[in-house]
Amino acid sequence: NIASTEVVIVGAGFSGLAAARILKQSHIAFEILEARDRLGGRVYTKKFDQGYYLDFGGQWIGPTQDRMYALCEEYGVSFYETYNQGKNILDLKGKIKTYSGVIPKLDLFSLLNLDWVIRKLERLAKKIPMNSPWTHPKAQKWDHMTLEDFLKSECKTNSSYAVLRAGCETIFACDPEELSFLHALFYIKSGTSLDCLINIKNGAQQHRIQGGMQLLAEKISEGFQEDIHFNSPVKQILTRENGYTVFTSEREIICKQVIIAIPPPLLKEIGFQPALPQTKTGLLENYPMGQVAKCFLIYEKPFWRTQGFSGQSVSDENTPYQTLFDCSPSDGSKGILMGFSIGSRARNLFKLPKEEREKTMRKVANRYFGPMADDYLNYEDFFMTDETWSQGCYAALMQPKAWTSFQDAYRNSVGNIHFAGTEAATRWHGYIEGAVLAGEAAAEKVLQNLDS
Ligand code: FAD
Repeated sequence: NIASTEVVIVGAGFSGLAAARILKQSHIAFEILEARDRLGGRVYTKKFDQGYYLDFGGQWIGPTQDRMYALCEEYGVSFYETYNQGKNILDLKGKIKTYSGVIPKLDLFSLLNLDWVIRKLERLAKKIPMNSPWTHPKAQKWDHMTLEDFLKSECKTNSSYAVLRAGCETIFACDPEELSFLHALFYIKSGTSLDCLINIKNGAQQHRIQGGMQLLAEKISEGFQEDIHFNSPVKQILTRENGYTVFTSEREIICKQVIIAIPPPLLKEIGFQPALPQTKTGLLENYPMGQVAKCFLIYEKPFWRTQGFSGQSVSDENTPYQTLFDCSPSDGSKGILMGFSIGSRARNLFKLPKEEREKTMRKVANRYFGPMADDYLNYEDFFMTDETWSQGCYAALMQPKAWTSFQDAYRNSVGNIHFAGTEAATRWHGYIEGAVLAGEAAAEKVLQNLDS
C-alpha cells in the first residue's frame, strides 16, 4: 500500500493540526498520520453518560495566548471564566488554613520571603534570551543547578519553601530536583511571567473551553478530516533522493517534506535512516516528560461554593495533590473538584489501586470541605504517563546541563524534516498555545522550501 503526497505530518495533536490548517489554506497536499484513534494527543476530553465531560489533558487558556483565542473565534468555540471566588485552602504540616487571593496566609517573615523569591525568579527570567538561553552569561551556572538548589538556597522558612515547591511542581510538572534551573527561567519567560503562570485571573488558568478542549481540535480538523489517518503510528522514516518514505505498519507514503509533532521521547521509537544527528539523539537521553495525574470527584452541585470556598487548595507532601481546582461546568450543573498530583506524588499515588486512590481523594475533600464531600457521584483519574503515545505531560523537561550541551538541537530541521510540537516553541513552551505556534512555524518552513 504505497501513496504519495507533498508533506507528511506525524501527530494530530494541536501542533500537527495547526500545521495542517496552514497547509490546507495554502493548497499543499498532506497526510496526517496519528498513532491513536482520536485527535488531540495531550488534550483529551472524555464524555460521560451522566451528562458531563472531563478534560483529562490540557484545559485552560489565558491572556497573551493570542493564537488560542483567535482559533476559538475562528471556529465559533466559546470559553468561560474558571470559578475563582471565595476562600482558598492552605494545607501545611497537617494544619488547614484559609486565605483569599493568590498568596497564602503565612507568618510575616515567610510571606516577605515568599514575595522576595518570586520577585527574584521574575527578575532572572526576564533576562533569558528566548531563542538561545545557553548564551546568557550565567547559563553554565544555572544549567548545572536544579530548581531545587535555587529554592533551598533562597527559601528561608519551611512554610515559604513548602508553598513555593508545591507551586513550582504544579507549573513545571515535576519535582524541582529533576529540572535545570535555566529551563525553569526559560519556561517562566516563555509563559510571560511567573504571575501569569500561577494566576487564574489574568493568568494561564483564566478560561476553559465550553464543551472541553478537544472540541477545538475537532473543529480545526473539520476542513481536512479525509487527510487524517488514525491508528497509524509512524515506525520508520527513510531519506531518499528528493524526499522521504514514511512507514507505518501497513502503509508507505512517499513525500517531499515531513513535519514531526509528537512528544520528544517518542522520537526514539521511530527508525530514522540515516540516524538523526547525534546532538538530537543525545538530547533525547536528557529530555524526559513531566508527570501529572488529574484526579476528579464529581458531585451533584459545587457544594463548596455555597460554603464560601473556591475549591482551590495548595498542600505540602502530606497529601498526594499539590493543588485542587474547581473544574465544574460553567452553569454549575455538576460540581467537579480536580486534584493535580505531580512528580513523585503522582508516581506514589498511582502505585495504589483505583479504589484506594478514590478513598484518598474523598478523605482529602472531606478534610477540606466537610462531610458533604463524601456524597459524590463518581471518581475518575487519569495519568498521561501511562499513555503509550504521550508518556507524560505537560511537556518534555530539560534536565540539568541539557540546554548548555544540546542548545536548540530539538527544534532544528534535519534536511526537510521539521520538528514541531510544544517543545519546539519559544513562546508558551509546554502549553497548547506553544504547540499551535510551533506547528504554524513548521508549516511556514515547508512553504518557504516550496518557494525556494
Ligand atoms: P501532543 O498533544 O502530544 O500530540 C502529539 C500526537 O502525536 C499525539 O496525538 C500522539 O498520539 C501522536 N503520536 C505520537 N507518536 C506518534 C507516532 N510515532 N506516529 C504517529 N503519531 C504519533 N496546556 C495548556 O495550554 N493549558 C493547560 O491547562 C494544560 N494542562 C495540561 C494538563 C495535562 C494533564 C496535560 C497532559 C497537559 C496539559 N497541558 C496544558 C499541555 C498541553 O496539553 C500540551 O502542551 C499540548 O497539548 C501539546 O500538543 P502537541 O501537539 O505538541 O503534542
